[in-house]
Amino acid sequence: MTARDELTRMTAAAARSALDARQISAVELTRAHLERIEAVDPAIHAFLHVMSDVAFDQADAADSRIASGTAAPLTGIPIALKDILVTTDAPTTAASRILKGYVSPYDASVVQRLRDQGAVFLGKTNTDEFAMGSSTENSAFGVTHNPWDISRVPGGSSGGSAAAVAAREAMISLGSDTGGSIRQPAGFCGVVGLKPTYGRVSRYGLIAFASSLDQIGPFARTVEDAAIMLGAIAGHDPLDSTSVPLAVPAYLRGLRTDLTGVRVGVAREYTVSGMEPGVTEAVTTAIGTLESLGAELVDISLPHTEYALATYYITAPAEASANLSRFDGVKYGLRVEEPTLRETYQMTRGTGFGPEVKRRIMLGTYALSSGYYDAYYVKAQKVRTLIKQDFERAFEQVDVIAGPTSPTVAFGIGSRIDDPYQMYLSDVFTIPANMAGIPGVAIPCGMSGALPVSLQLLGKPFDEETVLGIAHAYERATEWHSTFAPLDG
Ligand code: GLN
Repeated sequence: MTARDELTRMTAAAARSALDARQISAVELTRAHLERIEAVDPAIHAFLHVMSDVAFDQADAADSRIASGTAAPLTGIPIALKDILVTTDAPTTAASRILKGYVSPYDASVVQRLRDQGAVFLGKTNTDEFAMGSSTENSAFGVTHNPWDISRVPGGSSGGSAAAVAAREAMISLGSDTGGSIRQPAGFCGVVGLKPTYGRVSRYGLIAFASSLDQIGPFARTVEDAAIMLGAIAGHDPLDSTSVPLAVPAYLRGLRTDLTGVRVGVAREYTVSGMEPGVTEAVTTAIGTLESLGAELVDISLPHTEYALATYYITAPAEASANLSRFDGVKYGLRVEEPTLRETYQMTRGTGFGPEVKRRIMLGTYALSSGYYDAYYVKAQKVRTLIKQDFERAFEQVDVIAGPTSPTVAFGIGSRIDDPYQMYLSDVFTIPANMAGIPGVAIPCGMSGALPVSLQLLGKPFDEETVLGIAHAYERATEWHSTFAPLDG
């Protein structure tokens, strides 16, 4: 194994010890990852923008900080950022032509927190345009390939961030999850992905898709690394009034290996027709492993699950249609100049937005329009409450709910892009958590053929600690986290 291989296989936790013991330097670690990006990213295309100069400057500063004995948990750790988090030192496009070349005058709060910790920014990762999609094929700047099989999608919308961690191009990355966009790609790429509780992490500087659902969270190769990242980004932010002023627990202290006394809910609604047999098998085995670690399995029911997808596809597009009205050719990015203001709006938006974004804007505008608002939007809000109540009832009986992250493994590039309904179905198991605002983690739990399968653990609001603790116990009892995508370079 080359030195570069060793450095890109390390977890952030191991790198922290090695950096602090001065066995490795942040510059070396950064160089190893940038070289890995150079070697494998032509085949993967996880990155829209690589920030080599910024990264080396940050790595230099990190080495000085480590030498002075004031390192924070992420000082010198190479990280990738979904290109929907605004940054002052690199463009932020949300993978849309309408924002091509746009550079933000301010940093997202999570980005600022990582800067304060002395983390190293490797670059900005690919996503479905404005995070709308489940495959990263809706990017205006090319598709990302799954590191386990480059003919397959990495999932989406945070496919670039998931693929970067799976391909060892970054140690940890950040994504956003509105209906599954962290958990589903984490599952498809065989890494850990965490969607925190709505309000746990500041959304300031996250380009908004659906403001009542969006949440930022980490991708990592271990639960411990995800916990370290959550600890760095969580907490109240005066710049986001929906971030909650609750104390942030020491997540690493919640990591456990024994599950005695833990009640794990298994929902009968989380097996659907059309589920891949390899997924059912791996997830069933994984739930058995939780039991063998001491957990008690409890059958539960989440009766409104079947309405979650339909409800989401009213709520999310409705919010998106309002949020995306700001892209008008006047304030940001692309402007197609026409004789009248109205035509300027039309041409700018007509050429700037891709087909899926236009579909969402049309669906959302329709659902909000006078005469349809009560029938669609208000109705969806009511059903959303029912979905939330399902979870509240279930969590009176259990500590977490275990099930599959997605009904299938990574599908082929091009295989669903012409069938939006099939694409939307990839999120049946992830969307309910967004509707209810609860946290969820996806962790690798086996293989179906040559592709990773993922276990999802959903938790009580603001109880990421329990979710991560149980995920960690599972991970330590299994080998999946130490299996890497077979990718040369
Ligand atoms: N795939 C879902 C959608 O297309 C969820 C996306 C997300 O979580 N950002 O809306």
